[in-house]
Amino acid sequence: MNSQIYDLKGHTKDELVEILNRMGEPRFRATQLFKWIYQKGVTDFSRMTDISKLSQRKFDAAFIPESVSIVTAETSRDGTVKYLYRLADGKAVEGVLIPDPPRLTLCVSTQVGCRMGCAFCKTARMGWFRNLSAGEIVDQVCQVNTHIGPRRKVTNIVFMGMGEPLDNLENTLKAIEILGSAEGLQFSHRRLTVSTCGLVNKLTGLGNITKRFRLAVSLNAADDEIRDRLMPINRKYPIARLLEACRTISLRNRERITFEYVLLKDVNDRQKDAKALVKLFHGVKVKINLIPFNETEGIPFARPSDATILKFQKILLDAHMTAIIRDSRGDDISAACGQLATADATTLPPSSHPLPGSRGQCESVLDPPPL
Ligand code: SAH
Repeated sequence: MNSQIYDLKGHTKDELVEILNRMGEPRFRATQLFKWIYQKGVTDFSRMTDISKLSQRKFDAAFIPESVSIVTAETSRDGTVKYLYRLADGKAVEGVLIPDPPRLTLCVSTQVGCRMGCAFCKTARMGWFRNLSAGEIVDQVCQVNTHIGPRRKVTNIVFMGMGEPLDNLENTLKAIEILGSAEGLQFSHRRLTVSTCGLVNKLTGLGNITKRFRLAVSLNAADDEIRDRLMPINRKYPIARLLEACRTISLRNRERITFEYVLLKDVNDRQKDAKALVKLFHGVKVKINLIPFNETEGIPFARPSDATILKFQKILLDAHMTAIIRDSRGDDISAACGQLATADATTLPPSSHPLPGSRGQCESVLDPPPL
């Protein structure tokens, strides 16, 4: 008798075939399960009408159907929804649903906390607790689909919530495979974006994997002196090495890597910074997303004025670069970029509002940045 317990949403179709095979079930059962779970949003085996009662009982004993649950869903003035999810061990992560018709984009987390230590980011203040499993990443999407259903579904996923996806690469890739399954949610590479602070060692190994997702790189500065201060990872992998790694990634025709640039007042928003950015990408076609800093309590940076933001953008546009200003969504409920931080990831806060950061059992691979 098989007594192992499996996470229902943490397995690719092929893995599920294997698991079911060991349970004496036929191959096509995996396809049936995928369709029920991901296409119909049903995880209660007793409702799976094309599966025998005997198999239903076996599955009840063998699978844990949900690995995350929504604790709160807070809607902001602009329609953005911030979710607080509880994980099986009581830890918590956040996510953000951004309506941008016809798209409905979900920002998912890949880790509880983060150990990259970026100076401007709220999640970094929490420290790092643990990686999310593939099932926990996938289930964030499933739970939101159930929450907003049955007529609406998440159309796009960005791995820009809490954590650094490439610091949890294996589980992130597995989650992407599950989300992309033809028998499941069918997310194509065009609708999945992985954002990284620039873990060069992981980037260089990606190669053709961009066929399965789009890549965004958080650059945030055009010279190493500034980037060293903002992002400790830069001291290990400076800009030249980061861009070299980006060049090794094979892209499809007309596809571009997106570079994100958080605009911080008097730090990286000056005209000379924009010119340095132009020079850095001279002759290379890239897309730049300018993200005006979302001000967050306890983080010592400010948002530049609108005039400064527009002037910065104009310098890039004049140099024929693609530069888009990303307006901040959901900032009235602290759901905007860099504002995600659960108060204490070991026990859930009573409300979904981030409380003043507790560092908990902070683990950092890098020194805190000098300010
Ligand atoms: N670790 C990944 C994904 C999470 S951060 C990464 O670094 O890319 C997602 C984006 O939000 C990054 O581009 C980051 O630079 C940006 N960001 C972080 N804090 C921010 C803030 N307070 N205001 C605006 N953007 C922020």
